Amino acid sequence: MRFHRFVDPKDLPNFIMDEKVTILVTGGSGMLGYALQRVVKVEKRPNEEWIFINSKDGDLRDINQTRKVIEKYMPTHVLHLASAVSGMFRNIKFNSDVLLTNQSINTNVYQVCKDIKVKKLISCLSTCIYPDNVTYPITESMLHNGAPHITSIGYSFSKRMLDVMNRCYRMQYGCNFLSVIPTNLYGPNDNFSLEDAHVIPGLIHKVHRCKKEDTPLIVWGTGKPLRQFIFSYDLAKLMIWAIREYNDEENIFFSVDEDDEISIKELVEIVVEESGFKGDVVFDETKTDGQYKKTVSTAKMRQFLPDFKFTPIREGIRETIRWFEENYETART
Ligand code: NAP
Repeated sequence: MRFHRFVDPKDLPNFIMDEKVTILVTGGSGMLGYALQRVVKVEKRPNEEWIFINSKDGDLRDINQTRKVIEKYMPTHVLHLASAVSGMFRNIKFNSDVLLTNQSINTNVYQVCKDIKVKKLISCLSTCIYPDNVTYPITESMLHNGAPHITSIGYSFSKRMLDVMNRCYRMQYGCNFLSVIPTNLYGPNDNFSLEDAHVIPGLIHKVHRCKKEDTPLIVWGTGKPLRQFIFSYDLAKLMIWAIREYNDEENIFFSVDEDDEISIKELVEIVVEESGFKGDVVFDETKTDGQYKKTVSTAKMRQFLPDFKFTPIREGIRETIRWFEENYETART
């Protein structure tokens, strides 16, 4: 004989038990925001509401607009991605603008999130803000162990301050504010500007133009520097994991493993092959290389996510080139 028994709420599946959460993503129109929107469509849980905002919803450099847009949604969780982001050559020209923009955005977002008692805020640093002179592989705790590379001091110090703010808000107000630290990011909806872009989108656009105009490809620098690159869709999955599961007070790197680090020269070969470019490739060694390498350790990430599989770089670049070709008219160029 079977008896109906009272169902203890603790026996219900997690998603029914879980309280409703509203996750607000600042910078929702950027490269990472775009990737998150696509991944969330597939991975969203029933108790989650995701809201993506950008500068059209409110200029986060302004405290009143920041308060208005965040209070409109009253999020329980915030993924704070909004930032002035650019490649090394633009950073050199606009260090001061980048510093002031990011400081204003970050100060305002943190202030309002504290005021409305957001349960968890995760902001996004970058591995490129780490000290110029360090031992390798770099670990999370080395963030303040020396000055960053001079080319990007504005960006780097504005991002380092997020770590300082996490600690101050936690100590003084008990806020659950923390940061994750992705390595060099690439993917659809990146900034493909020929002057301002990061290395991968800049290369993809240059190769596209060289193919069209039948000219040689000139690459700035020697091609020797080494980098770890993460595909934006992979980072989006990791960000979703972090906002749901990660509660460590200390930062965590999100990167492909050390073995997957590649030289700029190898990267150029992949972009050239995947674009079907047949012309000459010339490295202009009069242009600066930036930091030779910035290898980060993925030991901490692997403790939490030993089986996470990253998209192979050739596949990610193929997808990014496809997106760029299809969206050439509207892409940020
Ligand atoms: P992105 O494509 O440049 O997008 C920047 C986002 O910030 C956009 O949605 C933009 O909105 C928003 N934003 C900028 N200024 C704003 C303002 N004053 N008010 C409101 N919103 C503003 O950036 P991303 O490459 O996706 O980067 C996302 C995060 O990852 C950033 O925090 C970045 O520092 C970090 N990160 C990036 C990389 C990388 O290689 N790209 C590597 C490591 C970490 P609009 O579209 O309306 O302007």
